[in-house]
Amino acid sequence: MRYDRSHKLYDKAVTLMPGGVNSPVRAFGSVGMKPLFIDSAKGSRIYDADGNAYIDYVCSWGPCILGHSHPDVINAVKEACGKGLTYGAPTEKEIILSETIRELVPSMEMVRMVNSGTEAVMSAIRAARGYTGRDMIVKFKGCYHGHSDGLLVKAGSAALTSSVPDSDGVPKAYTDNTLVALYNDNDSVRELFEKYGENIACVIVEPVAANMGVVLPKKGFLEFLRDITEKYSSVLIFDEVITGFRLGLGGAQEYFGIRPDMTTLGKIVGGGMPMAVYGGRRDIMECVSPVGKVYQAGTLSGNPIAAAAGIATLEVLIKNSPQIYKDINKKAEKIAEALKSTGAYVNQIGSLLSGFFTDIEVTDHDGAVASDANRYTAFFRYLLENGIYIAPSRFEAMFVSCAHSDEDIDKTCGIIRSFTPK
Ligand SMILES: *Cc1c(COP(=O)(O)O)cnc(C)c1O
Repeated sequence: MRYDRSHKLYDKAVTLMPGGVNSPVRAFGSVGMKPLFIDSAKGSRIYDADGNAYIDYVCSWGPCILGHSHPDVINAVKEACGKGLTYGAPTEKEIILSETIRELVPSMEMVRMVNSGTEAVMSAIRAARGYTGRDMIVKFKGCYHGHSDGLLVKAGSAALTSSVPDSDGVPKAYTDNTLVALYNDNDSVRELFEKYGENIACVIVEPVAANMGVVLPKKGFLEFLRDITEKYSSVLIFDEVITGFRLGLGGAQEYFGIRPDMTTLGKIVGGGMPMAVYGGRRDIMECVSPVGKVYQAGTLSGNPIAAAAGIATLEVLIKNSPQIYKDINKKAEKIAEALKSTGAYVNQIGSLLSGFFTDIEVTDHDGAVASDANRYTAFFRYLLENGIYIAPSRFEAMFVSCAHSDEDIDKTCGIIRSFTPK
């Protein structure tokens, strides 16, 4: 493979944007390569600036569950574009999308549309704080909820309760109210509630963690979170930006049979356009302005083009469910088997999966971090050279889409099985 044109573009881009990119993971930093610049994408394939084709398992980090350029979605966008790009006023499309979401995810009795997952989470937490009148929040080590100040934290070394900013430019004071617990560790949550329970506005969790690689909730973990938040009258927020419409039409909450108080959606809900949603119990959502006193706004929120893409995507999923999910899940299982043959420890649920190069079971952030980075890099490079595009970071999921054909899957599995690390 030749990457001449990508490299030339990168050399220019890096003078214009930090790292030459608009989101850090795209920079290929952890695999010591210059990033590929993408020119187009269709179905299961992306094509780079040099004309190389790859079977894509990044899928724009989750949105492309139908594959790239699905004709129904593209047509819906084209049609919407003909009517103007934005009005800054309500549209019927927002009603259609909201109703569809509520039908599929009944806990989202009321919703508000925003432009990114970051914004959805930030706003959901503000609503939870406004509703409870409390300041503290609990998040889990290794869960990602976007890049807003209060969520860029890691647990302090001494105790879980002293959190420190994970990024320069975040004042210590902004993370003082963020408590960090350990994923799959009920005791770590109980401890925080015993100490601060009366001050905890909410617990936010990825019901299936997919930003430390894929890590599944242990049996009883999510139930425990539901119980303890109820006991202390805290709000339970499921961040389903990845799992929403991915683990099934009803997301992780349907999959595990747990009703959170609030939910955030992103990625798939915009069908490839900038769109995210937060919502939940009516009494909480009615705290949001203009009904309530929790301020939150957006010039482009509920944008008609993004709404059109989201509606079209959900319609295809609804029309073809449950077969569509059975199909992508089975394909993911095949890839999981191939990954295991390389000696990786594999976490897979539905069409989400990760291979960790480690001998131990990966159930939390420490386990994920303990996996072999060099071996992942070698694996990534081997796959790329053979026309398979996976995340350039071992802390990101592999996404299977409906556009991955049986031939794509067989080819991918063959190449994975032929990987022999030095
Ligand atoms: C991607 C992601 C976000 C952030 O969404 P952006 O649209 O990138 O801001 C939040 N939470 C989870 C679980 C995510 O995977």
